[in-house]
Order: sequence, then C-alpha cells, then structure tokens
Amino acid sequence: QHYLKRIEQLDENLNSFISVSAEEALQQAKAADTLLHSGEGNAMTGIPLAHKDIFCTAGMKTSCGSKMLDNFIAPYDATVVSRLKAAGAIMLGKTNMDEFAMGSSNETSFYGPVKNPWAHERVPGGSSGGSAAAVAAKLSPAATGTDTGGSIRQPAALCGITGLKPTYGRVSRYGMIAFASSLDQGGPMAHSAQDVALLLNAMAGFDPSDSTSVVQEVPDYTLSLEESIEGIKIGLPKEYFGEGLDPNIAATIDAAIKEFEGLGAQIREISLPNTELAVPTYYVVAPAECSSNLSRYDGVRFGYRCHNPKDLLDLYCRSRGEGFGPEVKRRILIGTYVLSAGYYDAYYLKAQKLRRLISDDFKRAFTEVDVIMGPTSPTPAFQLGEKTDDPVAMYLADIYTISTNLAGLPALSIPAGFTQGLPVGLQIIGNYFSEAHLLNIAHRYQ
Ligand code: GLN
Repeated sequence: QHYLKRIEQLDENLNSFISVSAEEALQQAKAADTLLHSGEGNAMTGIPLAHKDIFCTAGMKTSCGSKMLDNFIAPYDATVVSRLKAAGAIMLGKTNMDEFAMGSSNETSFYGPVKNPWAHERVPGGSSGGSAAAVAAKLSPAATGTDTGGSIRQPAALCGITGLKPTYGRVSRYGMIAFASSLDQGGPMAHSAQDVALLLNAMAGFDPSDSTSVVQEVPDYTLSLEESIEGIKIGLPKEYFGEGLDPNIAATIDAAIKEFEGLGAQIREISLPNTELAVPTYYVVAPAECSSNLSRYDGVRFGYRCHNPKDLLDLYCRSRGEGFGPEVKRRILIGTYVLSAGYYDAYYLKAQKLRRLISDDFKRAFTEVDVIMGPTSPTPAFQLGEKTDDPVAMYLADIYTISTNLAGLPALSIPAGFTQGLPVGLQIIGNYFSEAHLLNIAHRYQ
C-alpha cells in the first residue's frame, strides 16, 4: 500500500511507470502476509518490485516502450519474472524505458520521457530509466533492468542507485524482448549491493528455454558480502580518465578510489588500448542485431497494424513506418546497411574483429588486477532535450559501459557521491562470473 500510494502521488510527474498492477499487487501482498505470519517465506517474500517493460508478463501489457507493442499482451512470463515471482516478490507494475531499449536518456519512449528524481529538468539515463527513477524516488524498493550497452549501469549512476549487469549468460533472456541478442543481459537495480545480491539469487541460473544461458551453479550472493577486500588489486584504465570526462566526476571517483585504498586495496594504472573503438564497434554490432530481431514486427501476428492497408506490402510498410519511432528506425537502417551484401565485410565483419580486440584488452588486464574501476558515465544527468538532436553525442554517453557488453563481462554501478547536487556512479568491472566478488567489494564500500 505504501509503494502504491507513492506511485499514485508522485509518478504523474516522474512518469517512471507505464503500467501499475495495484489490484494484483495487493492480493499478492495479502498472500505474503499470511505466509509470513505462519512463519514461512524467505527474504524475498512480499518484497515489492517493478519490472522494466521489456520483460513479458502474462496477461499484462508489455510495450517495450513502443507504439508497436502498445496493444501487446504476452501469453507467458519471462523467466526473470517467473523466478522472482516464485521467490515471493510482488510486482507493482512495469517501468518506462527507451523504445526497444535504444537510448541513453529515456527520451525515445512512446510514453514520454522519465524525469530524474534528483532534478526534474534532467534525464534519468536510459534505457532502464523508469526502473532507476522508480527506485531512486522510492516508488519501489527494487526493479529489474536490461543492459545491452550500459542500460542498467548508466541510469543507476545518473539516479544514484546500485545496478548490476551480470555476465552474459548468467541470467536467462527468455521472454525478455530482444534488442541485440549477443549483448542483452537482464539484471537487478536497487539501493544497495545487498539488495542486488538478494535479487540476483532469484534471477540467475541456467534456463533450458535460453540456449545462451550458462550451466553453472548459482552461489548465494549474500554469503560473501562481508568478506575482507584487503589486498585486492584494482586497475584504473587510463583511457577511462582522459578527455571527455567531466572534472567533477573525475574528482568524485578519485575520492572513492582513496576510500578503497583505505580498505586495503592496491591501486594500479592499467591500459585498455582499444577503448576508443568501443562506441563505433557497438554502434555497428547492436544495430545489425536489432535490424534482424525487429524484422518480426510486421503487423501480421502481433503488435501494431496500420488501418486499411491496400495490400500486403502496404501493410508491412505502414505498420512499421507508423509503429516504430525515429531512433528505432535509425538503428534498423544502420543495421540493414552494415549487413548488406556489399558492406558486410567492411562494417559487420570488421566490427566483430574489433569486438575480439576489445575483449582481449580485458583478458590481459585481468591477469594483472582483480577488478577494474572507473566512472560509469562521463557526465552527471544531462538536461532533457540536450542531446536529442545529436545521436552521436548521445551515443558517446555510453563510452565507459559498452566495452563490457562487447566482452560479455559483469559490471556494477554504485553511488559514489554527488556533484552539484547530482549523483555520480562508480563502475566496477569484474572477470567472468565474478558477481559475488563485485557485490562483496561494493558492499564493503557502502
Ligand atoms: N545506450 C545504448 C543504446 O542506445 C545502450 C542501450 C541498452 O543498454 N539497452 O544502444
């Protein structure tokens, strides 16, 4: 009731939810009360949370932030949704997001932009901006997000919360609407590493319905939170502290690193020499996969269909033309171009080779250090509308986050302080399947 009331009072202004499931939530809460009063249940029983509207929820609209899916009701739950439900969590509703998760500011949503709870004229980050804003404004204690190129970590940073992008394959993608399948990964967003650990316990693990989910045991992520981090080796990539980084962010990150030194960590400068190739590589690979994934929206089987089509071609063209927004269309055009016969080798194949070089940078770095730290975002939350006319400026907001998606590595953003009243996020990147260690490091700091 508490959270539903806050949503009712505050969300008209913030716009962080696309749908609210008040009735079902209260019903589930009653059932959780009964369970808890009879001495049963576990740490997740009765915990309210919000799902990014990219996760399919049976019987309830799943729009993916798009007019294309404004009328779409999935017949089944995504694995992330069903696992959290089975663990006892209660769904408050579905959160706003950039259309098909394409964006870094939540301004491409068909349902309008989300406002940053710390400064309403600023963006919450994207694409999981609704989830980040809802948690930051305490409309929900936790939320799910997805991260294809930073969409959990960057909004977590801009809204002052904790967000984890797990190792590729750690969390099932079944029922999570696909953007770029080789990069997409769902993960938890909450106030603390401890809360994130609890959520990840429920979300992670092999799923026979997702062939890219990995058969690997899921540890209890809460058990190692308190371990000492004395002697850990932290690498600071010199490429993450150069040109383009807001000096106030740099100062806040430096102060956080000093605290880690105080906790017994050893700090080393390292190099990830191919960092500058990450943005161009990602913006070839991601649109290529998106153009292929989004070809399913043809106005025939589900989703938006144009009125009075003349013939089949007109039905396809107008359904897609009217159903997708400008950023999605830009990505489809780039994607089909880089995959086309004459250009495949020059763009797509080249990008795949660069992707390998980027992962090799990390592989080398992890022979020298245990984790890598740096800023999550080069700037604090920017003004609504500031970058909407300049896609390249918007894409550069992802400069520190997208390499880890290209490499498939886990990474966490945690609050590191404020600059001019706006939250700053510290990013911690780990080796494959090191989520427990990342959460331990974050918890010791928090
Ligand atoms: N901002 C990036 C993009 O627009 C990342 C999005 C994401 O992680 N879903 O593609």
